[in-house]
Amino acid sequence: MTYSEQWDLETIFKGGLASPALENRLQALGQQIPVVLKMTSDWQFVFDEPAFEQMQAITTQLQQIESGLKQTGSFVNMIQSVDERNQQVAPMMDRINQLQNTARQIDVLLTKKLVALTTEQFETLVSQPAFAPIQFNLREKRQQGVDLLDEQTEKLLDQLALDGLQGWSDHYDTIVAETQIPYLDQTLSAGQAQNKFESDPDSKVREVVFKNWQQTWDRFSPMLADTLNHLAGFRLTTYQAHGTTDFMKKPLEYNRMKPATLDAMWSVVSQNKAPLVAFLNRKAALMGKKQLAWQDTWAPVVVDDFQMTKKSYDEAAEFIIAHFRDFSPKMAAVAQTAFEKRWIEAEDRPGKQPGGYMTDLPETNDFRIFMTYDGTPGGVSTLAHELGHGFHTMMINQLPGWRQDYAMNVAETASTLAELIVVDATVNEAQDRATKINLLDQKITNAIDMFMNIHARYLFEHRFYEMRQQGLLTPDDLKGIMLSAQKEAYADALTDYDPLFWADKQHFFFDDVPFYNFPYTFGYLFSMGIYAKAQSVPHFEADYIALLQDTANMSTEELAQKHLGVDLTQPAFWQAAADSIAKDVALFLELTATDLD
Ligand SMILES: [Zn+2]
Repeated sequence: MTYSEQWDLETIFKGGLASPALENRLQALGQQIPVVLKMTSDWQFVFDEPAFEQMQAITTQLQQIESGLKQTGSFVNMIQSVDERNQQVAPMMDRINQLQNTARQIDVLLTKKLVALTTEQFETLVSQPAFAPIQFNLREKRQQGVDLLDEQTEKLLDQLALDGLQGWSDHYDTIVAETQIPYLDQTLSAGQAQNKFESDPDSKVREVVFKNWQQTWDRFSPMLADTLNHLAGFRLTTYQAHGTTDFMKKPLEYNRMKPATLDAMWSVVSQNKAPLVAFLNRKAALMGKKQLAWQDTWAPVVVDDFQMTKKSYDEAAEFIIAHFRDFSPKMAAVAQTAFEKRWIEAEDRPGKQPGGYMTDLPETNDFRIFMTYDGTPGGVSTLAHELGHGFHTMMINQLPGWRQDYAMNVAETASTLAELIVVDATVNEAQDRATKINLLDQKITNAIDMFMNIHARYLFEHRFYEMRQQGLLTPDDLKGIMLSAQKEAYADALTDYDPLFWADKQHFFFDDVPFYNFPYTFGYLFSMGIYAKAQSVPHFEADYIALLQDTANMSTEELAQKHLGVDLTQPAFWQAAADSIAKDVALFLELTATDLD
C-alpha cells in the first residue's frame, strides 16, 4: 500500500478542537475584527496618500480576516465530517459564526463608503497601483452596493432574516428529519429511500419505494408549501425594498452573468433534447419497458453478465495522476502531492458524514478533500472531481482573497473538467462491451440530469416566483407547475414524474442562494467547452491556468471571451457541448443495438 486513505489535519491546527493554535487564531481574529470595523467607520475620502494607504490597510486586513474565518471554519467542519456526533463542534461553530457576523458589518460599511464616493473619487482611488489586483472586486462591491438601504434598515433586515428566511429554511430541515418512508417491514430515512429508488437494480423495488416516497411527501405537502411560499415571499419583499421586482437580478448577480447568457444556454438545451430522448427510449427497451418512469432514469443498464471492475485506492491514484498528466503536468503534480501529503480523507469507516467536498485552506495554502471511496468507477470520478477543485485552489491561492472568491457557475469548471478526463479514460480503457455500455450509461445519465432534471428545476422555480408575486400557492398549484415543468424538460419521454419534487428536493429551500439550479448546467457545459478546446489547441495548460486565475476577476462573459474567444450570449459555444453529448449517445445506441429483441 502506497497512499494513506486518512487525511492529516494536524498540519492545519495541531490537536483537534482543543488545539492551542486554533484557540490563538480565534482570539487574534476576535481582537482584529473590531479594530478594522473602527478603521472602516472612521475612513473618509481625502485626495491624499494617507487616505489611500488607510483604505489599502482596510481591504488587506478584511481579506486576512475572511481568510482566517475560512481556515478555522473549514477545520471545524472537517472534524465534524469524520466524527458527526462530536458535541464540541456546535459551540465552536457558533463562535466562528459570531465572528463572521461582525466581519460582515465591516463589509457592509466598506461597501457603503465606496458607494458614497463620486465617480471621480472612486476612479482616483481604484487607479492607485495597490488596488490593481482587486479593482474588479471593488467595482463590483460599489455597483451592487447601490441598492443597499441605510445601515439601520440593513441591520434590521439581517436580524429579521434569522427568524424569516433562515427560520423557514431551518424549518424545512426539521420537517425532513421527521420524514420516514415505509418499505416492507422497515422504515427508511429520506436519504436511504432516495438511494434505493434511484439505484436498486430491481424495477419493482424502485417502483414500490418511489410510491411510498410520494405518499410520505404528499402527507407533509401542506407544511412544505407554507415553507416554500414564505421563503419566496420573504425574498420578494426584500427585493422590493431594494427597488426591484426582477427576481432573477440577484441570482444572476451572484453568478456574475447576463440574462442573455442564461437564455442562450437554455435555448440550446431545449433544442437538443432529441438525442437524450433516444437514449431514454433505448434504456427503456433494454429494461423491457415501453417508456421509463421517473425513478428508472438513474437505474443502471445491465447487459450480458456484467461485473463492475473495481480499483483499489492506490490504483485509482495512479490512474488519475497518469491521465491528468496527459492533459496538464501541473494538474498531475497537484494530485500527486495531495495523495502523498495526505490531503485526502477517503476511507470507508463508520461515523463519517455522507457526500464529498473539497475545502481550500487559505492560511496553509493547501486544501483537503473529504469523501468515502468505494472502488467503483463512480468513486474514481468523484475523487478526480474533488482533485479538480483542488487544482483550481492551488492555481489561485497566491492571489488576494477576493480574487479567489469565484461564483458557483464557474466553481464547477475545474472539477467537471477533471472528471471528464478520467471518465473518458475509463471508457476508453474498458475492454469488454458490457463495461463500456455501463460507463457510457453513467456518463449520459449525468447529462440527463443537467439537460432535463436541472432544467425542470429552473422552469419550476421561475414559474413559481412569477406566480408567487400575485399571492400564495396551494400544494396542488405547486404540483401542477412541477408536473408541467418536468414534462417540458424531459420532452414527455417518461410515463411518470415527480410532482412533489418541489417538496422533496432540498435545493428549493436553501436560504443563502436562490435559483440553486442553473449554475450546475452552466458549469457542466462550460467545462465541456473548455475540454473540447483543450483537445484542439496544443499546450492548453497555460491558457487553462490563466482562465482559472481570472475566475473572480471579471464577469463570466468576459472570462469566456478573453480565454476561450467565445461569446456566451450566442448559441454556438453551447451547441458544441450539446454535440459532444449527442456523440456519446450515438455510441451507446450503436453498442446496444444487438440487445434488442
Ligand atoms: Zn464540485
